[in-house]
Order: sequence, then structure tokens, then C-alpha cells
Amino acid sequence: MAGDIAEKRMWRADPHTHSVRSDGIKTWEEQAILAKNARLGLYGRTDHDVWAQEHTPSDDTSYLRGVEVSSREGHVLVYAPTGIKPVEFKIATPMTEVVKQANGEGLVVGLAHLGFFLPPGSASVQEARRITDKGMHIDFIEAGHPMLSARNLRKAGAIASEIGAAVTGSSDDHLGNIGRSFTTVFPRETDDPEKDFFSAIAARTTRVIEPEGKNPEASVSPVVRLRRVFFSLFNDKSAIKITNGHKFLGAFAKGAMERAVWEIGEGRTYGK
Ligand SMILES: [Zn+2]
Ligand SMILES: [Zn+2]
Repeated sequence: MAGDIAEKRMWRADPHTHSVRSDGIKTWEEQAILAKNARLGLYGRTDHDVWAQEHTPSDDTSYLRGVEVSSREGHVLVYAPTGIKPVEFKIATPMTEVVKQANGEGLVVGLAHLGFFLPPGSASVQEARRITDKGMHIDFIEAGHPMLSARNLRKAGAIASEIGAAVTGSSDDHLGNIGRSFTTVFPRETDDPEKDFFSAIAARTTRVIEPEGKNPEASVSPVVRLRRVFFSLFNDKSAIKITNGHKFLGAFAKGAMERAVWEIGEGRTYGK
């Protein structure tokens, strides 16, 4: 499968990862090596609520300067293209505000792991519609993610085209598996993968590539998944911080309900 992607014409990226700056176990230096070994053109440094640093000339693997913002209704991925200044986002602010602020500053914004059935962190489909109905722009939807099923990928893709967003896929790596789960491919127009990535997001020409062979998550039982959710809930510092707010708990309940409806009902409308 990977061989089908002509190296000359397409870049492959893993745009969403975590380092020791938040709850990952790898340093940025180690991540750069992993990304290079996985033959990625680009990867995203998107730690929870802490921006990646500016590029330095010595970086040998290109990365996206990003952050994963813990908004009240779920995680939002924000990238600062080279030359655009990042802004600090407060945790547990409404998702709409985060998107509005990002739009206003020329940052590139997307909803992480859309439709994952339980928080912490996942935007609901209804939230995506509410944001676009209010006139804000969601640049991309993360439709491919190791905690999501192939069915979810199709449905999230349908929502992305409904609201005019591009799609991305990532490993959301915390443990050193960069490039070995879902990835994003996009046309190689220049020698600058970052520039080409943002052009492709704007033109909605990104595609999500599923992991080779079987999606490792497909064989995981619901019980194991649930256990993992609770594990992540109590290990994700940002999640613990925001679960202290009753507003977040309200959003948690609402989001879980909306996702359940999506899984059970809307899937038939959007699934093929
Ligand atoms: Zn997340
Ligand atoms: Zn993440």
C-alpha cells in the first residue's frame, strides 16, 4: 500500500503527536528520529495546552508547530504556520471561542478524533455543526485515529465534506509509534512539506491512510477500550484539570449523549 504512494508526488504526515512536554514519553529529538525512520515528510508537535517551539535551522525533519487545546467541549488541534504567531488558549473555554480566536489570528484549526464515543476530549458532530452555523471555519476534521473505527472514519469524512473541512489522520502518538497508525497524505507541490500541508488543507486535498494490515483497534474489545478511556481520563493532566469544572461535566454529558446518538442513529444516514 505504502508503495502506491509515489514518493515524488505525495507527502505523508503524522500531524498529531505528544512528547514529554505533555503526556508523551518521547522528547522532541527522539520524535524527529522516529518520524524520519517512518519516512514521514512532516509530523505535528501537538502537546496538550503547550505550543511547540519555533523551527530552528538545525531541524532535520519538518514538523508542524501546533498545540492540542483542551476546550470545554473537547480537544482542538491548532497549528501556527511559519510566520504566524501562536496565541495562548485558556483551557476549558468554549470550543467555539477557541475556533473563533484561531480563525481571527490566521491559525489553522481542526477538531481532534471526531466522534470518539466518550470524552475526555472528543468533539461531537453536533458541536462541529454548531461552530460552522455560527460562521466560524473549521479547517480540518481528524477523521482517522487509532481509537476510532473504520466506520467512524467514513462518517467523520462525510461530516467534513458537509461543513467544507479537510480530513486528517494521525497516530495521536504518546508512546513512540509515530507514523505507524493513521497518517495523512497530500500532494507534493514544492520542497516544503509544511507549505504543501497547509495548501492541501485549504484545498481539501488531504487523504487519510489507514494503518497497513488490520487496524489494531478493530480487534480490541469494548471492555478494554472503556478501561483505556478511564486510564487516559486519570492520566491526562489537562483532563483532570478541566473535569474540576462543572461546566465541563455538563459538556461531558451532552457530548456523550450526542455521540451515542451519532453512533446509533446517524451512522445509518452517513455510513455507506
Ligand atoms: Zn486529544
Ligand atoms: Zn492528542
